[in-house]
Amino acid sequence: MKLKNVIKNNKGTTMVVYVVAISVLIGCASIAVDIGHIMLEKAEITKAVDAAALAGAQEFAGNVGNPYGVACSYLEKNGVSPDEADITIFEDGISILASREVNYYFARILGFEKGRVEAAAVARALPVVSVDGGVRPFAIEDQPLLYGERYVLKEGGGAGSNGNYGCLALGGNGASNYRYNILYGYDGELKVGDYVNTEPGNMSNPTKSSIDTLIRQCNHAPECTIDSYNPDCPKIVTVVIVEEMDVNGRGPVRICGFASFLIEEVAGQGNQCQLAGYFIQNVAQGELSESQTDYGLKGVKLIR
Ligand SMILES: [Zn+2]
Repeated sequence: MKLKNVIKNNKGTTMVVYVVAISVLIGCASIAVDIGHIMLEKAEITKAVDAAALAGAQEFAGNVGNPYGVACSYLEKNGVSPDEADITIFEDGISILASREVNYYFARILGFEKGRVEAAAVARALPVVSVDGGVRPFAIEDQPLLYGERYVLKEGGGAGSNGNYGCLALGGNGASNYRYNILYGYDGELKVGDYVNTEPGNMSNPTKSSIDTLIRQCNHAPECTIDSYNPDCPKIVTVVIVEEMDVNGRGPVRICGFASFLIEEVAGQGNQCQLAGYFIQNVAQGELSESQTDYGLKGVKLIR
């Protein structure tokens, strides 16, 4: 072969290599742009579906409101039209499947016009098995509880048993600790299965003074009652449900759940001082469990 031809052939080969390399590069870059676009759309629709499912399920914790409507408004707020979503409401939760067509910019060159992104979420409202902070130092025995009904949280003189009137010693003993726990709630975490000590004695004065303070903190107009109340009212307290309260003096009682009540004025003077509240549904932060007895206090979580 003549030298001239060898040079010519090499030039041709180099040219082909360049063309192929540039095509591959452009192809890769184009696909990267389309993939990036799809990932953004997927992230947006996933975020919207998760937020809508959680907000919708929240409607099953607390007073059941409008899970479907709330989910739709959360989808819209997050850039997804409810028309793009399939929303199913079930007993204690909500499932949402949303999908959207995405137009390709460059993959069209290869004959692909559009793709589809999907996101699915299922959220449920489940009973809490632990409450991390805020529990008030009262316990009632496990019993069938009816929403809107009045229950005694702390007995008056003569009604207690073995020196216990429904008070708990959470994180310490004595009146000042008990008073703090009424005003601000116990700082620590409590779990179903934990044992806590009772706070024996009538505890009249600390109960009356701190409950009166809590009640005065309701600045809602008209003042909250069981017929109409604000879910953030200071008059709403979460207490402990125990298997049995009948221990002798200060003694351990086993937690079997948590429940919320809208408290009313402390009734009775001196040792007759009795605290009652109306059983309500409420929302809490904490660990949740499907197998926990439902005492009306629930949290929400994504289960898919
Ligand atoms: Zn209020």
